[in-house]
Amino acid sequence: MNVQVPQRSVLPADFDAARFLAEVDAIRAELDAGRGEADARHLRQVEWVAAGASIAGWALAFGGWWAVGALGIALGRFVRWTCVAHHVLHRGYDAVPGLPPHRQSRGFARGWRRLLDWPDWMFPAAWIREHNQLHHYRLGELADPDLVEENARFLQPRWLPVPARLVLVMIVIAGWRWLYFAPTAIRAWQESEAGQLEPSPRPERTGPRMLLPWGRSAAVWTRSYLPFGALAFVALPALGLLFGPDAALSGLLASLLGELIANVHSYAVIVPNHAGDDLWRFDQRVRGRAELLLRQIVGSVDFATGGFWRDLMHGYLNYQIEHHVWPDLSMLQLAKSQPKLRALCAEMGIPYAQESVWRRNVRLMRLMLGVATMRRADRALSVPESEAIAADPSRPAAASAAAPDRRAAAAG
Ligand SMILES: [Zn+2]
Repeated sequence: MNVQVPQRSVLPADFDAARFLAEVDAIRAELDAGRGEADARHLRQVEWVAAGASIAGWALAFGGWWAVGALGIALGRFVRWTCVAHHVLHRGYDAVPGLPPHRQSRGFARGWRRLLDWPDWMFPAAWIREHNQLHHYRLGELADPDLVEENARFLQPRWLPVPARLVLVMIVIAGWRWLYFAPTAIRAWQESEAGQLEPSPRPERTGPRMLLPWGRSAAVWTRSYLPFGALAFVALPALGLLFGPDAALSGLLASLLGELIANVHSYAVIVPNHAGDDLWRFDQRVRGRAELLLRQIVGSVDFATGGFWRDLMHGYLNYQIEHHVWPDLSMLQLAKSQPKLRALCAEMGIPYAQESVWRRNVRLMRLMLGVATMRRADRALSVPESEAIAADPSRPAAASAAAPDRRAAAAG
């Protein structure tokens, strides 16, 4: 496989970083001024879709229509993760007036509320460490746990023909929420709890062992597999016994099929977010705020945007560029921010990728199969060494007022 020789920086040396930062902050100020009741109302609508889908799904399943019920169960799991948990835990609703504490990052899915707010494979504190800190602040670096090009290498040994690689990729997709995400997050959280600043080298985390059900740490079982497994595949189907054993069996089948559908759906809108032969990865640590923000733009992609149902079915991950520039925006603010940021990027010559989710999945698949590579640079912008980033929230020991996600993780 040909590996690209890294370019020194993505943006030219005369790029006006000061103006870029000023414009980004001006957009943000405008967005914050418009924040209000509409954001809370929108979140409630999204939550009702998730709750309604789950209730309808289980009702249909207990009535014997398990294949149709699975669609509702899958949509509920998908929306609760990608739309609700993701944006609430990023503090997207902390400053929105009129929401209860459990709709803010400090209260959401805490303790027993995990069962109500976000019953899923993911252990919330582990998710915050893996996603909010490591993935967001180390985006496109080797330390980014979700760097697809590296994670997929074990699927592409030289001797394995492409069709056989495709079979392996399909197996990963079918179970990726519990095969990959839950254990990766638990590992990142355990390392952080043990005071380890840098995540472990990648081969320890991803590799052929990912496909084997054994060999996971006890915490993966106690925090992830057993709680969600018991709820989704034992307790909820058992409710069907009120209507007879057939209803319970139908509920179990719906839950299993729903899990498969939620895996495929979430994979298709999450994994292409930072993958493709037109997006950048980085060989050096980030320096300075301008570079941090530019990396988020040139290392991410937007899909088609606009309209409640289109955005919802994309999990609002179709605004990935804006989400990475301002992780603590509400879903509604993301939609408002998109035309503004896109216009700024066009004006300042910053590469800004937007393509349909289908095309992005083709690009992703080429990367997964090892027939395409990412674009590679040392940095997004040449920045003097003296401008090392002031506060890096990916470092658990850095107790700093500028590391808000760390506080959320500590509270999780
Ligand atoms: Zn995020």
